[in-house]
Amino acid sequence: MTASNGSAAPMVKIRAVRKCFGALEVLKGIDLEVPSGGVVCVVGPSGSGKSTLLRCVNRLETIDAGRIWVDGELIGFDERDGRLHMLRPADLCRQRQEIGMVFQRFNLFPHRTALENVMEGPVAVKGVGKAEARRRAVELLERVGLGDRAHHYPGQLSGGQQQRVAIARSLAMNPKLMLFDEPTSALDPELVQEVLAVMRDLAASGMTMMVVTHEMGFAREVGDHLVFMDDGVIVEQGAPREVLAAPRHERFRAFLGQVL
Ligand code: ADP
Ligand code: MG
Repeated sequence: MTASNGSAAPMVKIRAVRKCFGALEVLKGIDLEVPSGGVVCVVGPSGSGKSTLLRCVNRLETIDAGRIWVDGELIGFDERDGRLHMLRPADLCRQRQEIGMVFQRFNLFPHRTALENVMEGPVAVKGVGKAEARRRAVELLERVGLGDRAHHYPGQLSGGQQQRVAIARSLAMNPKLMLFDEPTSALDPELVQEVLAVMRDLAASGMTMMVVTHEMGFAREVGDHLVFMDDGVIVEQGAPREVLAAPRHERFRAFLGQVL
């Protein structure tokens, strides 16, 4: 559970969440909260369940037990007559639209310009008019420092620029929550900071964020809360500066020894 920032309801509430792939239990009872406007960073070794946790929050994966609420709304299910019922596809779609996700690989449409990539979601999914979508896309590209790259194709942009377009594309859907899954892991080292800078600005603007990252500097400076996962459980968590300065568990110390 995270330190509350004083505001009332959390944006994300995760309770006793379990997830299996066949016989493999990947999430073994996760409890976590992200306060509205808070930034939770999730770290841990490869295979510990970090991506699966994020994917459960935006319902790219279905959980096997537990509950996840985003902005007070149960994700993936509807609770009626004391029982859980799977949500209908249309409701799942709506829930997913409210949660932005940025992956390690940017997955931009290669045959569309930066501007067209950012306009696509609002136009195709939300039925926003083209002129309005374009105006907003220009604004978002400026916000991520790419106002002068609007008409470039992904292949004409660096990895860091492509990832910033991907962030703008997510923001175009006006999400309540942004999930980042190792957004800088595929980038050349010199391009990492420009993406982290955009994420830092986004956090400062009050966006609620869950960030899986190995960038401990970012976690320390931008994160309100740091979670260390290993083997499907949260092993250690707390204020980033405190847990990083004095990791208590041996597995966390060993992990930090590798990434720092
Ligand atoms: P992390 O992001 O921390 O590296 P993941 O959440 O991707 O970890 O994976 C956790 C475990 O679940 C790993 O053992 C991985 O192989 C397994 N896993 C992830 N996705 C699937 C899937 N779709 N089918 C089967 N196993 C999976
Ligand atoms: Mg992962």
